[in-house]
Amino acid sequence: MAGKLGSNSRPLRVAIVGAGPSGFYAAGALLQQKEIHVSIDIFDRLPTPYGLVRYGVAPDHQKIKSVTKVYERTISDSRVRYFGNVGLGEEINHDELKSLYDQIIYATGASSDRQLDIPGENLTGSFSATEFVAWYNGHPDFADFDFDLNTESVAVIGVGNVAMDVTRILAKSIEELSETDIADYALEKLSKSKVKHIHIVARRGPAQAKFTNPEIKELGELAEADVVIKAEDLVLDPASQASLDSDRTAARNLETMQILAEQGTTGKPRQIHFHFLRSPVELLGDDAVTAMRMEVNELHPTDTGYIACDGVGRFETLDVGLVFRSIGYRSVPIPGVPFYEKWGIIPNDKGRVTATHQGEIVPGEYVVGWAKRGPTGVIGTNKPDAVETVALMMEDVASLTPVADASASPNAIIALLQERNVAYFTFADWLKLEAIEDERGKAQGRPRVKFTSEAAMLAAVKGE
Ligand code: NAP
Repeated sequence: MAGKLGSNSRPLRVAIVGAGPSGFYAAGALLQQKEIHVSIDIFDRLPTPYGLVRYGVAPDHQKIKSVTKVYERTISDSRVRYFGNVGLGEEINHDELKSLYDQIIYATGASSDRQLDIPGENLTGSFSATEFVAWYNGHPDFADFDFDLNTESVAVIGVGNVAMDVTRILAKSIEELSETDIADYALEKLSKSKVKHIHIVARRGPAQAKFTNPEIKELGELAEADVVIKAEDLVLDPASQASLDSDRTAARNLETMQILAEQGTTGKPRQIHFHFLRSPVELLGDDAVTAMRMEVNELHPTDTGYIACDGVGRFETLDVGLVFRSIGYRSVPIPGVPFYEKWGIIPNDKGRVTATHQGEIVPGEYVVGWAKRGPTGVIGTNKPDAVETVALMMEDVASLTPVADASASPNAIIALLQERNVAYFTFADWLKLEAIEDERGKAQGRPRVKFTSEAAMLAAVKGE
């Protein structure tokens, strides 16, 4: 052996699968620790890095996207390399990765969505917010989606920050959207949108809304949309009122909603209507959605302190031509990697992958981010989460069976990809692409104009 595992002559070889925030924070934590010498390869199935920052964060939230400066510093470290356009289970499989790296970190996020499981959910015009978000952000897998915005009324189910993002994009004027890096095709489509009414449907009450304070405030500041909240819907039951004492975010959200309710409408062309205590029970229509049936709910506190809701057997119908369910994301199983179907995550013990839920630890495999804990928290939440996993990885090095020295050579993965003719993207390739996108953006007074197909990305950078 070339040297002790984790020494200068035989660094610990780590593969990070997924170049989104959690993958970058894991790389950052690996670089920061001083005990073990590491050499890190970050893979992504798309040519472009940054995952959710590029394809999830709303295009009108550019400030949040500046977090990529931190990730750029991480990848500029000589111990880190980037392999874009290399998907696990696609260009390379799990066993191959396992034979080349001493440790693997899955940072694959949550690219799918939860279902409502109600009749009519598969009708034309019923989508997940995940699909709409990926589409307007120019994700190559979603660029061909077709959202018929030739309808006056849209329902958004759920009251988290993703629901707020979707609502804002539907409600914003074309002038507002033109200043963003929204995909060109989405800008074109939204410029012809007939949408006038956006109905936000929450199964519980205003005190249980999951959005954060800036997001609800922003809805009140739109150029072309008024918020419609009935003051009587903001009168809380005793349990919800008591819950505000220990939940500053919810208390502030309520204050903002009270201000919005008092303000009323001001004659703007679009309206955002809040419907609390309503659960969709059926989407109606022959081929395409024309209406949504909802059951009225009431709240009741449970023993754990959670405030649950139950239907009261009273129903209402809302005429809508499009429905976006925004009720949470799920991870997607990767061939060869354990998956816990019930929670839609890779089963793990604080970041150590386990063969099943609460099962045996799988040596050398780890998970971070949404694939580890589910789709919760903001981008920064992934930092401590990654630090926790990396600490366990370091603890495990002493008992780890390393891969063969020849496989641990940084050239081994390159040889494999070249043998397969994989047109992988290096970080230098990405910087080239980014420079072109920025240049195209400058010409239009926008942050960037995105490439939205993998073929176009490869052609622009590699001439393929
Ligand atoms: P989320 O915050 O968990 O919200 C999901 C919403 O869906 C909740 O209102 C939930 O209601 C509702 N819901 C779940 N199942 C439902 C069902 N069967 N029927 C009706 N409603 C249902 O999830 P998210 O909006 O997808 O966001 C994911 C994470 O990303 C969050 O942590 C969010 O803060 C973060 N994020 C942050 C930003 C930002 O910082 N600007 C932007 C986007 C996303 P209950 O509460 O009743 O379960």
